[in-house]
Amino acid sequence: MKRRDFFKKVALAIPGFAMGISLKNVFAQLTQPVKNQAVSPSLKTTKNPLDIEVPFVHNGPGFGRRIAVTFDDGPAPICTEMVLKALESRKIPATFFMLGEHVKTYPSLVREVHAAGHEIGNHTFNHPQLSKLPDAQVEQQIRITQDLIVDAIGNRPLWLRPPYGSFRRSQAHIAYKFKLGIALWNVDTRDWTKPGIQKILEIIEKETRPGSIILMHDIHRETAQNVGRILDFLLEKEYEFSTLTGFIGEPYTHQAVPS
Ligand SMILES: [Zn+2]
Repeated sequence: MKRRDFFKKVALAIPGFAMGISLKNVFAQLTQPVKNQAVSPSLKTTKNPLDIEVPFVHNGPGFGRRIAVTFDDGPAPICTEMVLKALESRKIPATFFMLGEHVKTYPSLVREVHAAGHEIGNHTFNHPQLSKLPDAQVEQQIRITQDLIVDAIGNRPLWLRPPYGSFRRSQAHIAYKFKLGIALWNVDTRDWTKPGIQKILEIIEKETRPGSIILMHDIHRETAQNVGRILDFLLEKEYEFSTLTGFIGEPYTHQAVPS
């Protein structure tokens, strides 16, 4: 069986994965502000001038055992390939938030990630702190990267992960121009500080729960070398894995989006 077929089969076997009615309702509940009740701190929305809700996602639905592992800042030769091998041998789908400058340099690696059935998201062109940039530059960072990814794989990303999680709600209308949701996280492994595998496993054990979005980076050798152990640890805890869109759904499908 081809890997992509495998993931499709897994997806269809998981209730709600294919954005059936039930998951749509769940997503609507997650993203619609509830009257007389505080909006979940994990997933807030921001209205743009068109009155469309722009989702800021920290986690997926908390039922079942599904989580999403995400890898930022790549693609990078060797490290991304090591991560791909670890995912492939365990039949685990993941989401990669790529930098446009790396997509431009390594388009074949982008295609490899895509062909293996993983999701690809936009992580800006060269990793600026978007909250400090004027709108025109934010838009340029997003647009260039969207275009580079579309050129490489033929599909547009559905999610923007702002570097450092730094994105103002007043900037949400820019993400909406590209129909991008804002993908944050709720488990930060801080793998870029090279804390060692034991520390990473401690953080993951303490903070991961159903619906978690785990942040790692596929540009660091230490992460690439240890990702198999991290995935095995999560498998032992009986977590199931999904791409971001796989368990959250597309960012705007629950709303009428003007074309
Ligand atoms: Zn980053």
